[in-house]
Amino acid sequence: MPSDSPFQIDIPATDLLTYLFPTSQTASDTPIWIDADDPSNALSPRQLLQWVKRLGAGLQGLGLKSQDVVMVYSHNHIFMPVAYLGIAGSGCIFSGCNPSYGVEETVYQLRDTECRAILVDPTLLDTLLKAAIKASFPRDRIFLFSDKDHIGIDGIRGWRSFLPPVSQTDSWTWKLMDATESRTTIAALNYSSGTTGVSKGVMISHQNIIANVEQSIFMRDLEQPYQPHNRPQERWLGFLPLYHAYGQLWSIAAAARTMSPCYFMRSFNYIKFLEHIQIHQITHIQTAPPVLVMLAKRPETDDYDLSSLQNVLCGAAPLSKELQNEVSVKLKLKVVQTWGMTELTCSCLHVPGGRDDRSGSVGYIDPNATIKLIDDEGHEVGPGERGEIHVKGPNVCLGYWKNDNATRETFDSEGFLKTGDIAIKDENGWHWIVDRKKELIKVKGFQVAPAELEALLLEHEHVADAAVCALQLLTDCVREHEEHPRAYVALKSEHRYSSSEWDIERWIGDRVAKHKQLTGGVVFIDEVPKSPSGKIQRKVLREWANNDAEY
Ligand code: ATP
Ligand code: MG
Repeated sequence: MPSDSPFQIDIPATDLLTYLFPTSQTASDTPIWIDADDPSNALSPRQLLQWVKRLGAGLQGLGLKSQDVVMVYSHNHIFMPVAYLGIAGSGCIFSGCNPSYGVEETVYQLRDTECRAILVDPTLLDTLLKAAIKASFPRDRIFLFSDKDHIGIDGIRGWRSFLPPVSQTDSWTWKLMDATESRTTIAALNYSSGTTGVSKGVMISHQNIIANVEQSIFMRDLEQPYQPHNRPQERWLGFLPLYHAYGQLWSIAAAARTMSPCYFMRSFNYIKFLEHIQIHQITHIQTAPPVLVMLAKRPETDDYDLSSLQNVLCGAAPLSKELQNEVSVKLKLKVVQTWGMTELTCSCLHVPGGRDDRSGSVGYIDPNATIKLIDDEGHEVGPGERGEIHVKGPNVCLGYWKNDNATRETFDSEGFLKTGDIAIKDENGWHWIVDRKKELIKVKGFQVAPAELEALLLEHEHVADAAVCALQLLTDCVREHEEHPRAYVALKSEHRYSSSEWDIERWIGDRVAKHKQLTGGVVFIDEVPKSPSGKIQRKVLREWANNDAEY
């Protein structure tokens, strides 16, 4: 039997703007989105709604129709919520493009979204123009976008140039939606590759976002259920990138819903991050494991007063028990884990705030969602057994943009989303993420989980970090490919000469079953390649291993 969440909540069935600002006439004048470097640069809900109206009317003026895509290629700044909510509010679709993308990746997203207009950070204009030429995208549909007013660069106008003045926006209202429209109207198109190779647009509806904000806030505040608009003053730090689901959910939607001032950082910088926590007395942060690594290991951490922090949420990549505990002790609070993915709007498992946390666990199923754990034979498994997480719930995306095949492959016959993540649950409904399916190594028909070997390697006293992938080797007789676990290991600098590759291989060999031995060998490296959110870059490992593979 699939497990339902132990919690049920009411989820408003309306559009995103009506949900966030039910009484737009009385929208607050207290700033919610604040530039962390310059707090005088800020937007209150009332100001935001004025800009949203102007942007909505402006997009209409450009001839954009319902469900046309607007791509936003930008670093974080306080006008990003205007773009996100204004584009979605007008019935169009917001698609954030990663500011670290180069020309080719930008061309791909530009083409795939078939966007009708682009808002671009002036610092990214060069790359964008190159992409636009390649994709034959019209220049007059590209607009400079930042928190400043722009006259124009090289004939590219500032975004404010197509906005009517406030006085002419009285007749414009955002698109009001009933339950069905809220469920079927796409608000955001977030790019992610899912369990198959290429990057795809994940269709996130208005209802998805509303549901996931309600679910996440409910779980966070489980033991202290405040009314949304009557809670103790919190101050958040918005450094998660806003082209991504995680940043959008917390720094834009949940911040607005809970009226929590969110101090935006243009991009992440550790010293600035510490400074901002101290200066702005930040109470809540949403993070990923690399930030916790810095909090635990960087000596600068101790130079700042971080005692205002009350709540540290961590998601997006595996977090070890050790690191979780180390940071919890250091900050005198409990680091709380969450698990999710782009296809789930943001998250679907949470350790409820205030509850005793089984370390390393990602917690309970979010309200109104249902999870099945499925083994390789397609059977559901019970407590203590490993299975792929399949999810049904109001936060599950509508599918992939213009890609029915991928959508079909991603949902099972009962309409559950197959996440590709492998978990174990206990009798009480706590979950642990143990691996990612697409990364499992097959050794003579047995599955070997890289995460398991990586966790073991990290226990070796000389090992600073490690990553495991498959090395393809030909078998002697049948000349077929066989996979062999290969470990890339970074030694602690003080132990650089204390262990050989062979020592590590043997050390693992003594501790695991035969099929899990590192028969692909151990290779020493300086650093494990990781994404900014802390995920091991498996693609890089595979490229390395491919160079050593046999054909
Ligand atoms: P891709 O674009 O290839 O799909 P991605 O899966 O990393 O990349 P995201 O949607 O950003 O894209 O991330 C979701 C994934 O992050 C999950 O499927 C899971 O593997 C991992 N993840 C998220 N939270 C956790 C967590 N708390 N513990 C372990 N892994 C996590
Ligand atoms: Mg994914």
